[in-house]
Amino acid sequence: LTFLGLESSCDDTAAAVVRAGPGGNTVLASVVAGQTALHAPFGGVVPEIAARAHAEKLDLCVEEALEAAGLALTDLDAIAVTAGPGLIGGVMSGVMCAKGLAAGSGLPLVGVNHLAGHALTPRLTDDLPFPYLMLLVSGGHCQFLLVHGPEEFSRLGGTIDDAPGEAFDKTAKILGLPQPGGPAVEREAAIGDTKAFKLPRPLLDRPGCDMSFSGLKTAVLRARDEIIAKHGGLPRQARADLCAAFQMAVADVLHEKSRRALEAYMALRPAHPALAVAGGVAANSAIRERLQALCAETGVTFTAPPLALCTDNAAMIAYAGIERFRQGHSDDMTLVARPRWPLDQSAPALLGSGK
Ligand code: ATP
Ligand code: FE
Repeated sequence: LTFLGLESSCDDTAAAVVRAGPGGNTVLASVVAGQTALHAPFGGVVPEIAARAHAEKLDLCVEEALEAAGLALTDLDAIAVTAGPGLIGGVMSGVMCAKGLAAGSGLPLVGVNHLAGHALTPRLTDDLPFPYLMLLVSGGHCQFLLVHGPEEFSRLGGTIDDAPGEAFDKTAKILGLPQPGGPAVEREAAIGDTKAFKLPRPLLDRPGCDMSFSGLKTAVLRARDEIIAKHGGLPRQARADLCAAFQMAVADVLHEKSRRALEAYMALRPAHPALAVAGGVAANSAIRERLQALCAETGVTFTAPPLALCTDNAAMIAYAGIERFRQGHSDDMTLVARPRWPLDQSAPALLGSGK
């Protein structure tokens, strides 16, 4: 099966072509047009600007992806598109573009949950059987999922406030580093001392897999203000130390909560126990290493997608579309874009369904 995937739920416009068959899966092309520069003057993603940019760029991304794959629309089996959750204007741009392509070509249309895209990515790149444990850590989400099938997820726990990616972005902002904050903080942390600052490990004393990250960002803000009060500014080394301490605190929390989630997962007695991590924060090497070490200790296979497939991309959408299609599902022109779409309600919304 060869699918075109479209993604436009946040601030990346993306199109990709993925082929899946008995011989394995191949990403034939993956084009991502970021909007970082457009939103930079505003200190965050502006939904209206994002939606316009998606509407302008989607066609070009599709054209570029098809050209890179050396295929025409008629060579494809279906069009998969993110139908939510996300910024509604962007999701609508994607869904409308996909409907146009499907109507014009006569190809089936498959609506995909963006989070399912992240959560199924490890199966695009690795031979990973169900059920596996997924830690989905991104800019807007943080949850432990038991992935029983392409559309069957059960949630073990997650953040009760900010997502870690959001905490990385806010920490970067507080420390005067560029957006997206994750890579910037990780770069600074490399030369910082993790022990120079004591930051909290929220909710570690509570049982279960729930997490909290908003207090961490407040602690960084307080520490920064203390340094500024003392030194009249933020010395480079102190900034690096704060980044290192922050990253370590996030890694500690994810490590300990993953240990608990693994316990719950192992109770299912999976034949091939595996922990997979996905989402933008899974690109962080300190976090990847900690989870890898945890899995090595517990005899569980650890899988993390390559960095380009951790952050938003359309290959994951094309692939999740293939998995959904294989289950016998596709959509028609009644497919609706939805801003909220929890993973445990797997079917896309349709016009007139009252959802
Ligand atoms: P969601 O998928 O929840 O809707 P999103 O699509 O905006 O949110 P992603 O694209 O999956 O999120 O991830 C982006 C987030 O990942 C940003 O918050 C970014 O700072 C973070 N991130 C990217 N690279 C790294 C890194 N190396 N270390 C930590 N965080 C990172
Ligand atoms: Fe995402």
